[in-house]
Amino acid sequence: MVHNFNAGPSILPKEVFEQASQAILNYNNTGLSILEIGHRTPLFQEVMNEAIALIRELMQLDADHEVLFLHGGASTQFFQVPMNLLDEGESAAYLDCGVWGTKAIKEARLFGNVITVASSKDRNYTYIPRGYAIPSDSKYFHFTTNNTIEGTQMHALPDTRVPLIADMSSDILSRTMDFNRFSLIYAGAQKNIGAAGVNLVIVNKNMLGHVKRKLPSMMDYQLHIANGSMLNTPPVFAVYVCMLTLRWLKQQGGVVAIEKVNNKKAALLYDTLDSLPVFKPTVNKEDRSKMNVVFVMDNPDLEKDFLERSKKEGMVGIRGHRSVGGFRVSLYNALPLRSVEALTEMMKDFALQHA
Ligand SMILES: *Cc1c(COP(=O)(O)O)cnc(C)c1O
Repeated sequence: MVHNFNAGPSILPKEVFEQASQAILNYNNTGLSILEIGHRTPLFQEVMNEAIALIRELMQLDADHEVLFLHGGASTQFFQVPMNLLDEGESAAYLDCGVWGTKAIKEARLFGNVITVASSKDRNYTYIPRGYAIPSDSKYFHFTTNNTIEGTQMHALPDTRVPLIADMSSDILSRTMDFNRFSLIYAGAQKNIGAAGVNLVIVNKNMLGHVKRKLPSMMDYQLHIANGSMLNTPPVFAVYVCMLTLRWLKQQGGVVAIEKVNNKKAALLYDTLDSLPVFKPTVNKEDRSKMNVVFVMDNPDLEKDFLERSKKEGMVGIRGHRSVGGFRVSLYNALPLRSVEALTEMMKDFALQHA
């Protein structure tokens, strides 16, 4: 048995893999593969419509919020957001909380003034800054809700009237939140939504159409909205896998139900780490991520042994990001509780042997 703790692309429900494989061979008994049908056929239009409707339902979006499935991954949103929302001479506020947020800041500087309101770089991004001020004339405030690489997560939304924009790539649909408070949300699909190759963008349409610059068509959210995410050929298969995963999530009881399971998984892993002195979680307790759990070993010489033991027991994807080292265990929606149980049992045994 393999336990897949990969950080992204990452585990998806087994049912989704089965249905997606079947659709490659014979989509809905049409005798055609999902890979060979036109994106403007009713067959695919239904897939796109259902994916959008499921996002609206699972996130309880109001009528001002539009749902898009676009190309280019979350990294394209780093510049598509300021391109559509920030004019030259205007300012946007950014929180610098990790590798991904830093990249978003770098791209935004190409389009307007960026004010970094706070940064946790001084302690290797192991905490979420608090008590910072967001200038009230900022066009928007951008932050990363979950820092995938460093293992921190924002547990309370910032208290401001400035429009909120969030990169939710690694914790979208994992916990309840008032998503309508956001002016724009984006997320690469490959962590909690589906297959790599597509990203989800949710935008309040009242934010759009105000910048003076000319936009290339493929960069213009308004054109994508007007064309139902089919301005050009969408990533058909990736959208299909998202739709299947969203259906699965609905069957589990939606975001409310999956959040309970996610809380259980994270509590079990952190409690185990805290009870075993051989392991050292790296992140400030209040800011720990429930999606990506980062830790090192008290004695770094043991890291190789632990990695080898994990490999032997079918634990995949726990090596830390190259910029942090140690270990990172990702607990995305599709990861079953029993995988965390298997991992924590192994950790306890490892700690006993190396006490
Ligand atoms: C994975 C990730 C990204 C990058 O996504 P791509 O789809 O590879 O561009 C950006 N932000 C966060 C928070 C991520 O976890």
